[in-house]
Amino acid sequence: MLPDSLRNHIETKLNACISDVRPVAGGDIHRAYRLRSDEGKEWFVKTNTAPLAAAMFKTEAQGLALLGASRVIRTPKVFTHGCTDDGHAFLLMEFISPGYKNRLFWENFGRALANLHGNTSAQFGFAHDNFIGSLPQSNTRHVSWEAFYAEERLWPQMLLACEKGVFGKEEERQLDGLCRRLTALCPKEPPALAHGDLWSGNFLCDAVGQPVLIDPAASFAHREMDLAMSKLFGGFDDTFYKAYAETWPLEAGFEKRVEVYQLYYLLVHVNLFEGGYVEQVRAILKKWA
Ligand code: ADP
Repeated sequence: MLPDSLRNHIETKLNACISDVRPVAGGDIHRAYRLRSDEGKEWFVKTNTAPLAAAMFKTEAQGLALLGASRVIRTPKVFTHGCTDDGHAFLLMEFISPGYKNRLFWENFGRALANLHGNTSAQFGFAHDNFIGSLPQSNTRHVSWEAFYAEERLWPQMLLACEKGVFGKEEERQLDGLCRRLTALCPKEPPALAHGDLWSGNFLCDAVGQPVLIDPAASFAHREMDLAMSKLFGGFDDTFYKAYAETWPLEAGFEKRVEVYQLYYLLVHVNLFEGGYVEQVRAILKKWA
């Protein structure tokens, strides 16, 4: 249940009396609750006592604000984040009442993602580092995608997997080969504002049937990263990709190079869960080294 110290902390911050607390299932990392006051106001809170939790919530709040500021897709409004004296880190935000995906949901979502990506920057990366799942993610800025992707995305995850003893010299050699090919493989495009962890658990459908982005690992990245992640576990509805491509067409050959972007997310999954992801990483490295 929601710890008393956190409940008191939130009531003070909101200057409200919480009369109903319901657990919200479905998260990978934190505990989550819907809070409701007697007047029917609702909030959503995520909490965790892990040492890095406060930092994770801070960067999640920054990411939601960054994506929300684009005004092309809804993100939950963040009210506050912090930590109670007894160590309960928390992130308090707007509760998104769930709705049904209407006929236009996927079309709207595809178009909105393309428009989000239309927010570009001079450099890949971002002003602050963040997390992908519970793993740190560096956003040190680079002018070139190949340098950013290799140095801030692929290599840190590979080195972590080597530290854990999952991979070794052979995989390092193969990754080096793949990284040398990135300039030729990835189309030259401007750094695009990306959600960064766009799988089906990281968006909601609100009460009026519109998409809402949650749980970002945001940075300015290659826009194909978001599409690649969306396709990693079966993909979204076809209408989503059609609307995306109508708004901002992809360069030819995306379907072939999609694995090159999925490699990052698979390495992250190796480091978080190991399992079958190890063989998927090996197959991609072998193919593209
Ligand atoms: P975790 O960071 O632990 O993976 P999530 O962000 O996925 O947690 O959230 C846990 C659950 O709460 C998921 O089922 C998600 O759909 C839901 N959820 C996340 N944000 C909100 C929100 N602002 N309003 C309502 N439900 C939310």
